[in-house]
Amino acid sequence: MLNIVLFGPPGSGKGTQSEKIIEKYNLVHISTGDLLREEVAAQTDLGKQAKEIMDKGELVPDKIVIGMIRKKLEEHQNGPGFIFDGFPRTVEQARALRKALTDYDERVSVMISLEVPREELVKRLLNRGKETGRSDDNLETINKRIDVYNKQTIPVTYYYDKMHKHAPVEGTGSIDKIFSRIEEVIGKVKEN
Ligand code: ADP
Repeated sequence: MLNIVLFGPPGSGKGTQSEKIIEKYNLVHISTGDLLREEVAAQTDLGKQAKEIMDKGELVPDKIVIGMIRKKLEEHQNGPGFIFDGFPRTVEQARALRKALTDYDERVSVMISLEVPREELVKRLLNRGKETGRSDDNLETINKRIDVYNKQTIPVTYYYDKMHKHAPVEGTGSIDKIFSRIEEVIGKVKEN
């Protein structure tokens, strides 16, 4: 299997690049943000709990997202591999992912992290807020999300660094240009 963690701050283009990666490599897409928004839309108990946290720009408890991931892994265990988008966001989640994949004799192949300057992130997210009305794409919540990323999520890069799996990719320029940088990284991973 090819198992990719697509990593990066809010607004770094993980969703956009995921679509292109899935199309080319046929992977199963798992976005914890999308899964949580589905719960919110369906107004489940979990969704109601999650919405409040998401609108504040904070992280949903590890236990909840890890449970969602385990369920998806089970559903697609015989597929070509996964792309994890917006997960893991804490070291605890990274450890849980490793454990869950080990149950299927699998592992993360590479963690691709999209690097984009803060000013650009804010600009992109404000635009998305205008276009889609996503309730967490307002200036206050955007700033909070980026702060949470810097504090709680950046340590995940050190976790994958230690395993020599962290591949930083410049996340600015055209969508196709960024994708070609990603293709280069995946190409090398597939060679090994
Ligand atoms: P973005 O990357 O633009 O913030 P996402 O859709 O990935 O967008 O996430 C939106 C919100 O959903 C996050 O701010 C957080 O509250 C929650 N969330 C998503 N994924 C996770 C996760 N792995 N752990 C905890 N909370 C998460």
